[in-house]
Amino acid sequence: MEIQDWEKHYEDAYMIITRSLKDIRGVFVAYNSNIDAIKRLNEDEIRKLIGILGCSTIQEQVTQYPREIKDPVDLMARLVISMRDGKAAEVPTYNTDIHEWLMDNLGFDRARMGGQAGIMSNLLANLGIQNVITYVPWLSKEQAEYFVDSPNLRHPAVEGGNLVLKHPKEVYDHQLKPKVNWILEYSKGTNVCCAGECFTVPRDNRLIISSRPDWLHIDMSNELYERLPQIRQGIDGALLAGYQMIKEEYDDGTTYSYYVEKAVNVITRLKQCNPRMQIHVEFTSIQNRVIRKAILTDIVKKHATSLGLDTVEVANALNVLGYEELAFAVMSKDEKSVVALYEGAVRLLKDLQLQVVNIHSLGHYISLVSRDHPVDVEGHRDALLFASILAATQASIGHINSIDDTKEGLEVPVYDKGHEDLGSLATYLVRKGVCSMDEFESGCINAMGHSLVIVPTKVVDKPTGTVGIGDAISAGAFIALLTKIKDKGEKCPEHT
Ligand code: ADP
Repeated sequence: MEIQDWEKHYEDAYMIITRSLKDIRGVFVAYNSNIDAIKRLNEDEIRKLIGILGCSTIQEQVTQYPREIKDPVDLMARLVISMRDGKAAEVPTYNTDIHEWLMDNLGFDRARMGGQAGIMSNLLANLGIQNVITYVPWLSKEQAEYFVDSPNLRHPAVEGGNLVLKHPKEVYDHQLKPKVNWILEYSKGTNVCCAGECFTVPRDNRLIISSRPDWLHIDMSNELYERLPQIRQGIDGALLAGYQMIKEEYDDGTTYSYYVEKAVNVITRLKQCNPRMQIHVEFTSIQNRVIRKAILTDIVKKHATSLGLDTVEVANALNVLGYEELAFAVMSKDEKSVVALYEGAVRLLKDLQLQVVNIHSLGHYISLVSRDHPVDVEGHRDALLFASILAATQASIGHINSIDDTKEGLEVPVYDKGHEDLGSLATYLVRKGVCSMDEFESGCINAMGHSLVIVPTKVVDKPTGTVGIGDAISAGAFIALLTKIKDKGEKCPEHT
């Protein structure tokens, strides 16, 4: 299919989906919201921070490559490594000392909503979804301020024994402290000198310091858990993210199994009267292999209906599931990678017993769909196209404050390279007999028990912002699919 034909599909999908968003009764979104404190570093500031700690101490720690930030030296070591290589990194810190040190010695330029669940909740509310029920286990006063002020965005609470849904600002827990992640951005060309060694930053990128204080639990109070059936009445699906916060061991002696079980119980309860309810889990990079595997095999498998990931995350997931070679091929830079991506998606779909695997990369998105999913291939294709429009909007104007904003994304042209990659995957799949060229272009339903939908995406040449695009893709594809599911499941008595 030529690029102009894809553009036509984009317009049609956009029209159909934007018109039907009002048909969605609601979406439940949990768990991770935080505040992102963003600071763009200049040379003077970097010099000042290095000066406070001393170059030799930092250099020593650079060779140790700290995987967790325990003190300012660890922080500066990871910053130097990230700047030297021009590579983005995310490193956890388990107390709030670093936050205080950064506040005292640096400060931030601006702050915004962060965390996959927080970003997706605000996006859905801004798109006008009727009933967005967001849930943050650590809803502090400060955190509540970062949710959009919109009557369709509400957080559950129990008041006088009854479930209430109110704006987060009305139901926060005043005893809780905010979870603040720092995003330290740096620019290409910045000169950094430390202990006589100087380098120039090769590209714009960022170091994220992800705050994981001990009180951060992926959890739900019993009284709220008991009342989940009432929440279930008003929703057609759930978007779940943030499981990467689960730790292997906690100071009180509990282990990850306890929180994994609780996470599964929430999903089971949401699906209790409607086993077909769509439950999407948004994946992310998780360094700890035990937790990565537990999320996939204990939470996602059998319980979730769909999983969203980017290319690197596909490789990471395949790796812990025992497909090291395939994982390696996914990360290769040649045309084999797009083929490995398809094969990896098949493994994820089958091994994790999913209905949909959504993979986004720069240039194309793939949905692999099981035979029992209620939406046809055209519906899945529309969903991916809509997701791409949201991504392009986010990249080009840096925000999506209303459905009107998304017209910007529709204007962005389809990316040539993504269109070419599609060609190489098509050639391979036709050769392997998975589907014919025609089928491939309109979404291919094959004899192996699953369908494959792949679309070239709209890519913004000089993006204004790159944060939260992955979340916009997953949330966009999810709600677009919900508009296509007409059978909303049986009515469920409130008390079950
Ligand atoms: P994040 O979670 O920070 O958003 P992800 O890796 O999950 O990061 O998602 C990034 C995705 O955003 C890429 O896979 C790509 O599809 C999309 N993307 C990145 N840059 C652009 C751009 N300039 N225009 C359109 N889409 C983009």
